[in-house]
Amino acid sequence: MAYVTAPGVIEFREVPLPEPGNGEVLLEVKAVTLCGSDKHIFKGKHPAVSLPIPVGHEIAGQVVRVGEGVRRLAPGDRVAVEPVLTCGVCHFCRRGEYHLCENISFQYRVGQGGLTSHFLVAERWAHRLPDHLTYAEGALLEPLSVTLHALRRADLHPGDTCAIFGDGPIGLLLLQLALLAGCGAAYVAGRNHFRLELAQQLGARAAFHNDEIDSLAEILARTDGLGVDRAFEAAGVQQTLIQSLRSLRKGGHAVVVGLFEEAELPVPINLFIQKEIALSGSQGYHWDFQRALTLLEAHRLDLKWMLTHHFPLSQAQHAFDLLMDPEDQAMKVVLEP
Ligand SMILES: [Zn+2]
Ligand SMILES: [Zn+2]
Repeated sequence: MAYVTAPGVIEFREVPLPEPGNGEVLLEVKAVTLCGSDKHIFKGKHPAVSLPIPVGHEIAGQVVRVGEGVRRLAPGDRVAVEPVLTCGVCHFCRRGEYHLCENISFQYRVGQGGLTSHFLVAERWAHRLPDHLTYAEGALLEPLSVTLHALRRADLHPGDTCAIFGDGPIGLLLLQLALLAGCGAAYVAGRNHFRLELAQQLGARAAFHNDEIDSLAEILARTDGLGVDRAFEAAGVQQTLIQSLRSLRKGGHAVVVGLFEEAELPVPINLFIQKEIALSGSQGYHWDFQRALTLLEAHRLDLKWMLTHHFPLSQAQHAFDLLMDPEDQAMKVVLEP
């Protein structure tokens, strides 16, 4: 199993083959995609975790064994993992809002990362994949669910305009889903030419490089100086947080989905009153894997454009190094055991 043992260092450690207990299934891991939060961990800068820690939470695999009491799944089934752990008994779990669980955790935080050969998961957190999806696409259910949740938090309506600050996988998935939800014009701002080009191909009305162009001025100019109905912060830095607030029309709504390495940041607070804007956060997913699967089953969404690089699991160090290169040509890197 791959661990980040120090900033920038991946190390493989032997772990015993787990045995599926009551209600659990054992998977042979087939594909794991790397994500922005894995990058934060790799840098040793994730606000909620300390090193050493196993990595990998976007996981798809094949059921090889099932424990007692497992009803829906059988050996041979292809599944994606919802890598969350919830207590089931706290105030929010009992309300059915498991993403807000008081004791929420993730598999990798309690010792089980996805960059390994076998993965143990409760049946309830394993979602069967439609036949036409590859395992790598299955692994993308996790970021897709993060994105769907953020889109639902934004309450975007057909015909709305939106601005997306961040051109990583979540930013571009937001673009794809916002357009699917009827967004009339979507603008993307980021810092990677390759990804901004992809944004254009995916249907962005315009895409701006934040180091070369005043993205905010461009967005305002294209919306009659009014601003957009909805904005998404998907980069996790002060510049884009402020841009997402300033890009809003009066009464507009911004959603933060990026993870910030810096815990406290100043914001233009008077804007909230002067423009009656709103800012919401988006935490993980909550019944979003099911929605994501419905879209994928119906061929409403194609995620193949995201899967730019495939490596064997043994090259995990190389895969992370590639992701750290700011001008890389990578969207999602897939690791296959
Ligand atoms: Zn992720
Ligand atoms: Zn709970």
